[in-house]
Amino acid sequence: MLTTIADNLTRLHERIAAAAQRAGRSAEEITLIGVSKTHPAEKIREAFQSGLRHFGENRVQEWEGKRAALAGLPATWHLIGHLQSNKAARAASAFTAIDSLDDWALAQRIDRAAAEKPPSEPMRVLIEVHLGGEETKSGVAEGELPALAEKVLQLERLHLAGLMCIPPFLEDPEEVRPYFARLRHLRDALKTRLGRRLPVLSMGMSHDFEAAIQEGATEVRVGTALFGTRSYPQ
Ligand SMILES: *Cc1c(COP(=O)(O)O)cnc(C)c1O
Repeated sequence: MLTTIADNLTRLHERIAAAAQRAGRSAEEITLIGVSKTHPAEKIREAFQSGLRHFGENRVQEWEGKRAALAGLPATWHLIGHLQSNKAARAASAFTAIDSLDDWALAQRIDRAAAEKPPSEPMRVLIEVHLGGEETKSGVAEGELPALAEKVLQLERLHLAGLMCIPPFLEDPEEVRPYFARLRHLRDALKTRLGRRLPVLSMGMSHDFEAAIQEGATEVRVGTALFGTRSYPQ
């Protein structure tokens, strides 16, 4: 059977609601981010027309290539992939949120670039934390998180809203849960230390978002279960 993006979206909202209910949470606390990397602009438009308002891309250049076709679409565009300092300015102008901040020099560059944009809301950022595992090298080490967060708070054009993680890929989502719990714990500790609200926990992907919701995720990043299999690995 051929499933459409609209069907997938309906199904995902049902699964999010069910997972929230099991966790004693409200589904409204959880934002679905459709991860559209490798998929063309038409698919993003289709998802938007089906009601999705948050999208995630992991490469600046790829998103720059699709953006023009979607100009004016009132959605929130999240950068969720590793960002090199030399692309900070481009990222600041192409995205509405940078969810993978992991470096002080990078934060300063984004702040400077945001200052050059017309007065608007500060750039929403999340700090990505490296929780171990070989797959990903990105993210700040746990021990360096408090110092980085304290410095980021001093940047006027950035609004630190919470934390993000990409745990190692493990077949059984139950085995990923400790990583999600760890991120929540780090967020809680940081919140106390900084005396700030840090409401966002961006964690969970197609195969483990329900486990992430059990552990407090407020944003889940779903690619494959929404847009289908990617035609090349990312
Ligand atoms: C690709 C990607 C996702 C989505 O992965 P799926 O398994 O396809 O849902 C989520 N987060 C990040 C950072 C990604 O790069």
